[in-house]
Amino acid sequence: MKPKHLEKILRVTEFDDRGTMSGIIVCECGCEKFGIKYFGDIYPPHIIGTRAMDENRYACVVKAVCCDCGKEWELFDYSKHGYDGFICKDGVSVPEEKLVTAVAGEEHDFEVEISIEFDDEEQFIEEVVDDPPEGMNFTPDDRVNIWSWVVINLKCAKSGKVLKDFVNIELA
Ligand SMILES: [Zn+2]
Repeated sequence: MKPKHLEKILRVTEFDDRGTMSGIIVCECGCEKFGIKYFGDIYPPHIIGTRAMDENRYACVVKAVCCDCGKEWELFDYSKHGYDGFICKDGVSVPEEKLVTAVAGEEHDFEVEISIEFDDEEQFIEEVVDDPPEGMNFTPDDRVNIWSWVVINLKCAKSGKVLKDFVNIELA
């Protein structure tokens, strides 16, 4: 059980019985250092959250760009992976050119730690699979791609500085 878009790059270190999966991001090429691209509201010194795009729709995107091979990986998009953003449809997607590349003044070489909370399985089946919003259709397998919480911590490989809770957003 791993989110589909992280299948190749998430090295799981822990998956507890409350449904929280934690791990580090490793590129297909083996590299563990990334530049970060993101979109969201910035709370100094280094925390990002969802940005209100209109009255009740929000956006937040985080991507990792491999320092070695340059491959770009999507880590989190509020409009695709968040329970509220995806199922309740209050997420907005963001065009690539709106993403920002520097984090707290540091541009490269981050180690990326991610922690994802999934909905309780029974609850997901009861509330989403058996009773989907109009026009939508879900299977129990979708649970893995629709998160109720996400945390991303960054560690600058050069300075050793840890940007804890770069992302820490409740999604349900
Ligand atoms: Zn790579």
